Amino acid sequence: NADAAMYRAKALGRNNLQVFTEEMAAKAHEKLLRQEELREAIAHNEFFLHFQPQMNLASGRIFAAEALLRWQHPVHGVISPGAFIPLAEETGLIVPIGDWVLKTACRQCKAWQDAGLPSLIISVNVSARQFLERNWASRVAAVLAETGLEARYLELELTESLIMQDVPGAIATMHELEAIGVHLAIDDFGTGYSSLSALKRFPVQRLKIDRSFVEDIPLDADDKAITAAIISLAQNLGLRVIAEGVETEAQVEFLRQSGCDEIQGYFFSPPLVARDFETLLGQRRVHADAI
Ligand code: C2E
Ligand code: MG
Ligand code: MG
Ligand code: MG
Repeated sequence: NADAAMYRAKALGRNNLQVFTEEMAAKAHEKLLRQEELREAIAHNEFFLHFQPQMNLASGRIFAAEALLRWQHPVHGVISPGAFIPLAEETGLIVPIGDWVLKTACRQCKAWQDAGLPSLIISVNVSARQFLERNWASRVAAVLAETGLEARYLELELTESLIMQDVPGAIATMHELEAIGVHLAIDDFGTGYSSLSALKRFPVQRLKIDRSFVEDIPLDADDKAITAAIISLAQNLGLRVIAEGVETEAQVEFLRQSGCDEIQGYFFSPPLVARDFETLLGQRRVHADAI
């Protein structure tokens, strides 16, 4: 925080103040550069998607894929979303970027169907800035119409914090999306602050258990308890539940015993480029009706 830095600097004396302000100026400059790069990345088509399969535990089938954004930076190589999405959100660039993701993911899903691969659901992450735009549901409908993908093959992943920013507004948009026929999931479930009583008012079909609860299973008894509680909460609310970040056989075993419906994670497959995902689809039986 700039004020705090300035205050500390003043307390330390003049020379330090100069150092601090130079540092702040350099930071601001760096941020502007990165913002400009991000803007250019859209124009220069530097984004691409990875696809990570989601597997039904009972049938062993792939029924969905999560689209995960990547940036092929001309100098720094492939950059993960964690490194640029916060800036994209802050600057509003997430709106055109998110639009590109939605369209590209829907188009890819439709292309797989047209190529005769068994139909699966495509899951797309949505930012608050996008979701809280006016008429966002009609934007989604327009993308579906444009790409020819049926609404029931699209799932949007919302976070609790997104919903909590404007609960009535979010619920209204969720109902509009529900009316279109799009599926909704709550991503990173358990890390946000949505109250359990609010949850029952959200028209969602799925909960995605956050990776942080899964990673220390079976060693961490608390994480096991939380994960099992989320699974039974989902079951009691009539929601499907998927565990994220599943990496080991022991985690799969625990999740299976706890009644978890689905898994996603390195145990089954990392996120893949479209080509590799197609190869995987060709090898595995796919089934979209699971959702
Ligand atoms: P997320 O939606 O919770 O996605 C899951 C993240 O976990 C992905 O990271 C994925 O690569 C990673 N992951 C999957 N399986 C495993 C595993 O077994 N172990 C571990 N350690 N990690 C695993 P990624 O691709 O870096 O994405 C990070 C986050 O960035 C996503 O978290 C999502 O919140 C955001 N994101 C990604 N793509 C988009 C997008 O198109 N739009 C928006 N708004 N956000 C996106
Ligand atoms: Mg997600
Ligand atoms: Mg997540
Ligand atoms: Mg932990």
